[in-house]
Amino acid sequence: MNSVRSAEVIAVGTELLLGEVVDTNSARVAADLAEVGVDVYWSQRVGDNQARIMAALDAALERSDLVVLTGGLGPTDDDLTREAIAAVLGEPQTVDPEIEAWLRRRFAANDRHMPESNLRQAHVIPSSEVLPNPVGTAPGWLVRLTRGGKERYIVTLPGPPRELERMWHQEALPRLPLPGSKLFVRTFKTIGIGESLVAETLGELTDQANPSVATYAKADGVHVRVAAKADDLDRAAALAQPTVETVAAKLGDSVWGTDADDLPRIVVSALRERGQRLAVAEGSTGGVLTGYLVGADDSVDQLGRLTPLSGRPTAPDQAVRRFGAVSGSVITCDLETMRALGVPLGLLQKLPYGAVEVVAALAAAVRAFFKADLGVANLGPCVPVLAASNDASIAEPGVGKLTRMQASVAPQSGRPGVLPAVPGAKPVGDDRTITRVVIAIATASGTSVKTLDLPPLGGPWQRERSAFTSLHLLRSALR
Ligand code: ATP
Repeated sequence: MNSVRSAEVIAVGTELLLGEVVDTNSARVAADLAEVGVDVYWSQRVGDNQARIMAALDAALERSDLVVLTGGLGPTDDDLTREAIAAVLGEPQTVDPEIEAWLRRRFAANDRHMPESNLRQAHVIPSSEVLPNPVGTAPGWLVRLTRGGKERYIVTLPGPPRELERMWHQEALPRLPLPGSKLFVRTFKTIGIGESLVAETLGELTDQANPSVATYAKADGVHVRVAAKADDLDRAAALAQPTVETVAAKLGDSVWGTDADDLPRIVVSALRERGQRLAVAEGSTGGVLTGYLVGADDSVDQLGRLTPLSGRPTAPDQAVRRFGAVSGSVITCDLETMRALGVPLGLLQKLPYGAVEVVAALAAAVRAFFKADLGVANLGPCVPVLAASNDASIAEPGVGKLTRMQASVAPQSGRPGVLPAVPGAKPVGDDRTITRVVIAIATASGTSVKTLDLPPLGGPWQRERSAFTSLHLLRSALR
């Protein structure tokens, strides 16, 4: 039996083509295949149309050892994956009595009548082996066939990710003749250099094959992934090692983490290690920053309640310092809230100028208001910033400096940082208008400020980018 060397994923569903459902199944399956050493060179998405599913499958069987089809296993007329496979292989479908009995029992257990259309889900073909689905009604198939003188495999998986996940890992993968090879991956996470600069820094490294080097722009910075494949993980790691070292040396201080390192977790852990707490005032991130911090905080449960880490009740005064890295958080984009937090009126009156000073004062004010060790504040489009201001350190002497991060995008409109004149109003700029965000970190020894000019890529993108830049600044301040 030849082992599976190459695979192809076909995601079936018109909703995937219309963009109504994002195709996460293909990514899941492809990532798992890469991990077990199977190359995925092709991936297709096709609507609920039998002729087109057949064409996609036919092409896939010509070039790939394994074809994984996801979706289209339901009971309705537009669930056509089984029909397409049967037609491509020229095999008749019959009802498998065991699956039929199982389906009928399942419906009866819920006091429900089984619609006859569900019988489709009991269909099999002579070359299919049934993959059970205890968490849904659609069993999958593992089909073995020969094409072009080679053994090929077809796997069908249900569309709902929860059902797919179980069937793929517990039923399909163990039945497949997978190669013994393993993939070693080291991911470097960088900040302060754009993707093109990273690519330039890496030079010809990105052209090599095993180990391969690739760059990905992510919300928390540019990632550089070094991957090597060999017969076992130790050999794969040894093969990757020289490239890993070269990449690490070339990226230098730009690297803030590797592999599963997570920026919010790094910040929360640093706060915990120091026994410090953080106060947050979000003008440009609208709660996104607090969401990341609370999500990374193991002392906060899923409902946002503080829970004792030790499981033991603690005295109320201890709770203040022991629980929750965030001591308080405010979404603020209006003068009243900033004033209530303690930003001096004189500063607020200077707006639209002096936003840098206002944000610095806001970070200090929110820190004092919530009796925290650090304060972070950011303000964006609701605050008018017309001057092309730059990073300004207004820290007192001896204060550790924040790492300067490259984040500026030259305003293309020739009007630097054009933003509305009235705090709280919507941005008025045209498509080319940049958004200027000011971020400040206040500590016991001073305050540092950073300005960030963001291209017009939409509110969600800008909030994410502002949140991650705030997290990077916090990480620097906590080092
Ligand atoms: P069902 O028995 O639920 O009909 P099915 O195997 O026929 O299962 P589909 O009808 O194609 O699956 O999809 C059911 C749901 O599964 C979709 O509405 C969607 O929410 C999810 N889904 C389907 N395909 C994908 C995919 N490629 N990525 C992520 N989710 C998907």
